[in-house]
Amino acid sequence: MHLKSLEISGFKSFAKKATLSFTSPISAIVGPNGSGKSNVAEAFRFVLGEQSIKSLRGKRGEDLIFNGGSGPAGAGGMGGIGSVGGFVTGIGAASTSGRANRAGVKVVFDNSKRILNVDFDEVTLERVVHRDSSNEYFINGSLVRLKDIVELLAGAHIGASGHHIISQGEADRILNANIRERREMIEDALGLKIYQYKKTESQRKLEKTEENMKSVESLRREIAPHLKFLKKQVEKVEKVQEMRESLKLAYQEYFKREEVYLKHEHARVEADKKGPTSELRELDAALAEAKNILASSKNADATSGEVISLEQELARARNEKDATARELGQVEGEISAALRAIQREKDKQSRDENKTVYLRDVEEIAKQVFTIDSLDEIRKLVKEFIARHRTAENSSALDDFEKEVVELRTKKAALEHSLKIAGEKEVATHELYTQLRHKIDQEKDTNREAEKNVFKIIARQNEIRGILNTLKSHEDRVALEQEAYKRELQEAHIMVGREAVNFASVPALITLTDADIIAEARTAQEERRRAIEKTKIRIEDSGAGNSSEILKEYKEVEERDGFLARELEDLDKSKVSLVALIAELDQRLDIEFKEGILKINVQFQNFFALMFGGGNAGLNVVREKKRKCRADTDLVLSDEEMARDMDAASGDGLGDGGEEEEGAEGIEINVNLPRKKVKSLMMLSGGERALTSIALLFAVSQVNPPPFIILDETDAALDEANSKKYGDMIANLSQYSQLILITHNRETMSRAGVLYGVTMGNDGASRLLSIQFDEAVKVAK
Ligand code: ATP
Repeated sequence: MHLKSLEISGFKSFAKKATLSFTSPISAIVGPNGSGKSNVAEAFRFVLGEQSIKSLRGKRGEDLIFNGGSGPAGAGGMGGIGSVGGFVTGIGAASTSGRANRAGVKVVFDNSKRILNVDFDEVTLERVVHRDSSNEYFINGSLVRLKDIVELLAGAHIGASGHHIISQGEADRILNANIRERREMIEDALGLKIYQYKKTESQRKLEKTEENMKSVESLRREIAPHLKFLKKQVEKVEKVQEMRESLKLAYQEYFKREEVYLKHEHARVEADKKGPTSELRELDAALAEAKNILASSKNADATSGEVISLEQELARARNEKDATARELGQVEGEISAALRAIQREKDKQSRDENKTVYLRDVEEIAKQVFTIDSLDEIRKLVKEFIARHRTAENSSALDDFEKEVVELRTKKAALEHSLKIAGEKEVATHELYTQLRHKIDQEKDTNREAEKNVFKIIARQNEIRGILNTLKSHEDRVALEQEAYKRELQEAHIMVGREAVNFASVPALITLTDADIIAEARTAQEERRRAIEKTKIRIEDSGAGNSSEILKEYKEVEERDGFLARELEDLDKSKVSLVALIAELDQRLDIEFKEGILKINVQFQNFFALMFGGGNAGLNVVREKKRKCRADTDLVLSDEEMARDMDAASGDGLGDGGEEEEGAEGIEINVNLPRKKVKSLMMLSGGERALTSIALLFAVSQVNPPPFIILDETDAALDEANSKKYGDMIANLSQYSQLILITHNRETMSRAGVLYGVTMGNDGASRLLSIQFDEAVKVAK
């Protein structure tokens, strides 16, 4: 036995504390009408967490508290039976007939079999309601929430308004209910509510999950355009990084080759200069000696002096011509460098033509234009706007280069003129010199040998000077290239970093030998330089802003998006598992429900046949039929209800105009009384309804016995013969569930092991006494 006792104090008509001990499988509560018996059943419902005050026959919480009586205090009694059976009452919650301030009910369970999922051998549940309608709940004296009570009881298949407490006049509730309500009642009785709770909980979680998914999705949608924009920026940055990398590699190769080339050229010029320089020194000495001979010769004549001065003049003319030619070469080099620079600037400017201007700048200028009346002002404004958006340095640099070219060209023209004059002078001097030589040749002079020698030396000197001049211009060119090389190193360092100039240690270039480099045509290296220039311009044009900021922001936004994606994945997983769980719960509910129905039907048939002495009864799982009526209002009717409707509306055509749709599943009750053709529940007599209800109630209780059942005058409508059968069934049921029966029925009383009498005195307060069967029979009357 699970139910040990019930203690009521200040609840409804129970002004004083009254305790009922349930020491027998069947306890009966008897007493005259209005004495407070049903209040005991309600005390059970109250303490088990009932929330509907209406179902406890009140309007508000206050109605549940003893409200005082009108009679004198201490009046009332049990009409001569009070002395038998001991009082079970304790200290009153209020002075008799005085109003109580609180109503409290305690129920004590024997939990040694752990029917309640809590680790105590005895569990006391208590509920107190105060005049302000506030409630308190306790488990073993500790304040708890209502939810804790409900959960604890649900686990033991006991509910507040459950199937196991049948209030007065409620016995045929299941017959009156519609098919959906019946299904709920049967599910509850079969202990399937726990699946329903879980299902509702899972559906709530599913809704929440779907809501969360929606908000995560909308967050991702919000981020998406920014992420896309950043991605493009990052791609740009990466492209520039790639270009920088390839520029670095290009620079490394270019520099390595350039360095080897310059060193080699420098060494070559130095080596080439050695021979002619020393030969020239020797020739100078030889010439000086030959001149000495001529000067000291007696036969030296004016011709010799003339030869010498002409020769000097010729040498000067040649030197001047060579110097001018060299300078001219240099100027030409500068001109072509300046022209290259001009081309580069022009290229930049042509890119300016397609330059993108911010809409906000255009809007700004438009705003200004609209406020100006003078055309001159507008022209000025537009001119300034364009000038502002051109690359300012470019145009000034271009101007500088163009100016430089003009200056260099003027210089070049002057140098060309000088070169022409110097050339003419050289030709003229050479002509004079040749004539003189010819003249001297004619002469049979003793100095002839010396003179010849002088000529020879001079000729050779001129030849060597020519060679040296060529070498000098070569040397100058190498020096210019060396300068350019240094500049390029600096530029590369700034643009690409130190690595670009640290080419010596680059593994990829180790196999590149000096011999390979020297053997290559110079045009190949020039081609490399042009390619480098192009890459540099592309990098400058890319306009990639603060790349580290962009990369950082992109990383952050991408991480956030990734986090949201993972979140979504997790949510989706839990959604899938919740959907699966709901489907599984549905399936279990369905299977267990149908299995339960089969079991109930076996018992129902037994009890029904027993009560009616034959006949058939059973439950059917049916689908609701939705029918649209002519007023276009949806009606949901069971087959039974429809049959009723059809009977009532016979001949008015209501039935044939509507369309039918399938609705929710419910339960239909089929009965077939012995020796009668009655099949509709509507046609049963009051007693037959009571018998059918009892048969079904007992069948359900038999299949899934609750720990206790409270039946409030369920037997009221039974005649003597049926009372007897009812008594037998009760005795049978009490093997599985503890029974508390409120009754006026003698037969029922006779089955009880414990009897309580309830009386009400003049003070309006109920009294409780433990009594014997004989007294009970008297009290019940
Ligand atoms: P019956 O045999 O006719 O069904 P019963 O014994 O079941 O009667 P109850 O319905 O339990 O009687 O008790 C009803 C009585 O309880 C009424 O007399 C009513 O005045 C009294 N009662 C209900 N609420 C209160 C309250 N808050 N304070 C005092 N008395 C109350």
